[in-house]
Amino acid sequence: MIRHWWNSQWQRLRTDYDLAIITSFCACAVFGITPFAIYRFATGNTFAGLIDLAIVALICLAVAIVWRGGNRQRTTFVLAMINTAACLVSASVLGPPGLFWMYPALLGNFLLINRVHAAIMTAFALVALTVQGKAYESSAQLAIFLVTASVSALIAFVFASRTESQRRELQELATLDSLTGMQNRRAMEQELSIAIEEYRRGNAHFGLAMLDLDHFKRINDEHGHEAGDEVLIAFAELVRQCTRKVDRCFRFGGEEFVLLMPATNDESLHHIDENLRRRVAAELSCRGAAVTVSIGAAALRPDEDWQAWLARADAALYQAKNEGRNRTVVDRAG
Ligand code: GH3
Ligand code: MG
Ligand code: MG
Repeated sequence: MIRHWWNSQWQRLRTDYDLAIITSFCACAVFGITPFAIYRFATGNTFAGLIDLAIVALICLAVAIVWRGGNRQRTTFVLAMINTAACLVSASVLGPPGLFWMYPALLGNFLLINRVHAAIMTAFALVALTVQGKAYESSAQLAIFLVTASVSALIAFVFASRTESQRRELQELATLDSLTGMQNRRAMEQELSIAIEEYRRGNAHFGLAMLDLDHFKRINDEHGHEAGDEVLIAFAELVRQCTRKVDRCFRFGGEEFVLLMPATNDESLHHIDENLRRRVAAELSCRGAAVTVSIGAAALRPDEDWQAWLARADAALYQAKNEGRNRTVVDRAG
């Protein structure tokens, strides 16, 4: 039981990048600050010890909120503010030795929150320290601190920008199909879940279509796999041309595709899909022979999850194939 719980939490840490960052930052902060709290109590500096303990308690609370599924953006922003405020207090109470805490605190902010917000917080902290005047002994010391802290923050800013753009690129690569440039099945599952949530909130109607090229195996057998690939690329381009900007196209696998269409009812769903089917029959070909597509569609119904919705579209596609291919069937059940 405990082992199972531990495994599932470990799995969450491994798969959730932000959660791992927040947790490791907080673990570092707690392990770094707690010995100081003990030291302050042991040397009779109860006030500073209590401040340290309060910071540790607030950090633990923030981590608990994030682990329990609370609002991450707000929690990490508050955490970064606590972080910055704690450093300002410690620098004004301890004087120059307190300044050293500014470095890990400011760098930590770049891990926790948006880099622009972290940069603004850094600028605010440096101005506050300069104006308040208790944390440094001479102007030279202040100047050295301001320059080194600013350079550290600049490096953290650049590093955060690079990490963010690499992360975005990786995310795109992980959700794109390399042959057609369409989003893949993984992205489809995410988008369908979002559509279900929006529908339940009463914000929109959605239609879903499954498209399957007819006798595609024959194309491969007769003209080769490369010719088959060219047909898939041309088909994907045609789908993009025939759909609206708000529609989302996915490669479900092989020669099967899925179209997610917001603001669609049974009638418009049939109209859009029929138009697409006709254009494919008229314009898609392989070595002079026409290529056709069969389409099964379904509008989202209340109390349906995306798997059931997709299954209805798939059943409609099956019917379209059985009825002779090159046709559109809209499931009107429910
Ligand atoms: P149906 O009309 O019933 O859909 O018949 P079909 O031949 O289209 O369907 P089937 O599922 O029998 O064959 C699908 C073929 O698609 C088999 C597979 O080799 C081919 N295929 C799947 N992925 C790719 C790909 O990326 N490139 C190429 N060229 N062929 C692919
Ligand atoms: Mg097929
Ligand atoms: Mg198929």
